[in-house]
Amino acid sequence: MDKVKHVLIAGAGPVGAVTGLYLARNGIKATLFDMAPKPAEDHRAATLQPSTLDLFEELGLTERILEQGFKSQYFQWRDRVKDEVVAEFDYGRLSEVSGHPYVIQLEQHKTVYTTLEAAQRYPDFVLHRPVEVVEVRQTADHVECDVRDASGEVVTHRGDYLVGCDGGRSIVRKTTGASFEGFTWPERFNIVSTPTNLGEIHGFRLRNYCSHPDRWVSLMQVPGEDGKGLWRCVFPAKPEETDEEVMSDEWINARFRECMNAGPYPIVHRNMYNVHQRVAGSFRSGRIVLAGDSAHVNNPIGGMGMNSGFQDGITLARKLIEISKGADADSLLDRYDRQRRLTAIEYVQAQSIANKKLLEEKDPEVRRERLDELRRINADPARHLDFVKRASLISMWEKSEQIE
Ligand SMILES: Cc1cc2nc3c(=O)[nH]c(=O)nc-3n(C[C@H](O)[C@H](O)[C@H](O)COP(=O)(O)OP(=O)(O)OC[C@H]3O[C@@H](n4cnc5c(N)ncnc54)[C@H](O)[C@@H]3O)c2cc1C
Repeated sequence: MDKVKHVLIAGAGPVGAVTGLYLARNGIKATLFDMAPKPAEDHRAATLQPSTLDLFEELGLTERILEQGFKSQYFQWRDRVKDEVVAEFDYGRLSEVSGHPYVIQLEQHKTVYTTLEAAQRYPDFVLHRPVEVVEVRQTADHVECDVRDASGEVVTHRGDYLVGCDGGRSIVRKTTGASFEGFTWPERFNIVSTPTNLGEIHGFRLRNYCSHPDRWVSLMQVPGEDGKGLWRCVFPAKPEETDEEVMSDEWINARFRECMNAGPYPIVHRNMYNVHQRVAGSFRSGRIVLAGDSAHVNNPIGGMGMNSGFQDGITLARKLIEISKGADADSLLDRYDRQRRLTAIEYVQAQSIANKKLLEEKDPEVRRERLDELRRINADPARHLDFVKRASLISMWEKSEQIE
């Protein structure tokens, strides 16, 4: 019988931390390794979906998240060409399928800190940082992980399973030999933050997507360090624009002028990055399993990447707990691969690509038809519910749970 007593986790970002907490609460030792001295505080995910808030109840995290974040029931789609609101989607319609029919806007690092704080109460949760996972191996009955500390000393840890939560450039994924197929978008995204209350000035909801064939923008509010609110705007940079140009005050304020006919606004953060759509060819190789960005990456429009990673981590932790009680490891971990790979492709990849295409559609006819379709979905109660179930990743979770 293959009993799980000790799971090694490479990476203590949001997905690693949640996976480790879930295991430790259920009496399985989780040893995490992270190369960063503390959680990354640059601007990453900001939206906790209803599906996540529901799952976090079991971990005792939801209340703390609600205390810190901004509650947002609606998200808005605008047409920047005609300067009009196309549709407002209402998460309140999810009240029959979710205990939390809204999203919580909260910066990713605050979710990580909240999880790590909760995990400290469990002696089975052990986090080593800063240490880098440099090599992983497995045999028929255990895994080994070599980690290097700041002094260069390499120590080998041994466990029953290894979960790769080490992000998009995962060394764990590379070790398994899994492919990471997909593509990189030609444009980079520039995430810019301003304390100016764009919602009040321009009538935005807390989450907004403004389509334009050339210069679209996605805007959302997060609490910021003082809790008073920071507006985060994602602007696409054209491939021919240099990094220096795109990061300049001039470029950013030109976007504010163009997109909101206003500004200049004070800019407190800016962060540019490349955007990928990729899914690992397999989420499992023997005793090594992938979760979160190590298994799949996507563009941030719609706020799905981190949230789907939480679903991975919790699905996997539940299976490892069953294995610890004597269930068959091969069949459960193969099922994990089927559940999470398929839904990563059918929900997160499909939806995030569709969201981006809708934002940037260049053909005026196609654009008009797509925005009209959004209006029709918005006006039809059944389709509206279906749309928000998909956007909130509730459909993804339901589908994943159905896959045998
Ligand atoms: C700039 C940016 C903006 C984003 N915006 C959004 C957004 O708006 N909405 C959204 O849903 N998603 C967004 N994402 C994606 C979201 O941040 C990720 O889906 C999420 O961080 C995935 O969590 P993770 O724990 O799987 O991986 P990560 O957050 O990447 O965490 C991986 C962890 O592993 C550690 N690590 C890596 N390699 C090693 C190693 N060899 N040894 C030890 N430790 C290691 C890292 O230090 C890190 O702490 C964004 C990502 C980026 C980069």
